[in-house]
Amino acid sequence: MAAILPETRPMIDPDQLVQWYEHAQRDLPWRRPGVSAWQILVSEFMLQQTPVARVEPIWLTWVDRWPTPSTTAAAGAAEVLRAWGKLGYPRRAKRLHECATVIAAEHDDVVPDDVDTLLSLPGIGAYTARAVACFAYGQRVPVVDTNVRRVVARAVHGLADAGSPSSRDLADVEALLPEDSGAPQFSVALMELGATVCTARAPRCGVCPLPLCAWRSRGFPAGAGPAKRTQKYAGTDRQVRGRLLDVLRASASPVDRAELDVAWTTDTAQRDRALDSLLIDGLVEQTADGRFALCGEGGD
Ligand code: SF4
Repeated sequence: MAAILPETRPMIDPDQLVQWYEHAQRDLPWRRPGVSAWQILVSEFMLQQTPVARVEPIWLTWVDRWPTPSTTAAAGAAEVLRAWGKLGYPRRAKRLHECATVIAAEHDDVVPDDVDTLLSLPGIGAYTARAVACFAYGQRVPVVDTNVRRVVARAVHGLADAGSPSSRDLADVEALLPEDSGAPQFSVALMELGATVCTARAPRCGVCPLPLCAWRSRGFPAGAGPAKRTQKYAGTDRQVRGRLLDVLRASASPVDRAELDVAWTTDTAQRDRALDSLLIDGLVEQTADGRFALCGEGGD
């Protein structure tokens, strides 16, 4: 695919970026030698919307307990939801369990290595498919997350922020990848730069390893869009869903409606809405006698 980058773009030099990464990288357990493709996939599911510090302890316990897709699938969806704990956005846990089930049953317990097959698996989107192909299998594919989009917007396009995701993003980043086997290292370094130096709110340009940055050269022009508001959690439906799931996680058997009702008394309409959404998402199910349980624990 043709590069969409402007002709006069300052390039991101792979050697400089990777050299910086080699001494500046965080020691993250899923990046260590010997970590399997499945374990890398699990980390990518967890990291989609949750910070590294919260993911790390859960991931370590998780891969020790369930090192393969088949062990995860055999655990059952409810146990997986319990182990997901407070990582948030629990639909990811259910999708991860579904993904494990498909890989165990249809792919001989081996995570596929091509992007198209990965994209066909439950819960795997454009980013995760390419992250697994790149970081687990060393393929030269563009891995584009929010951090990468921001670094490219600034260093290459001279913009404060990346704007909305677009179909151009993949081609943009692919044009930056080195042609040789160093592409995966370049990709992880680019992500690390966005996560630790070229951050959304306070880029640390003084320690940035990129000698050329279009945004810096232009004098840091302000972004066009409105400033992003921090997502609040307290009082949201997400918080109520979390409270209801906490009750069910803590119980080995289905619970009465009254036990769920006391988990959120501030707004009963909101509580009902949250419970309905958990039922619709398939995270919670109702037993024949009207009690509630985690998915897979409601009986026939
Ligand atoms: S110089 Fe600053 S804005 Fe440019 S890529 Fe580096 S950290 Fe980001």
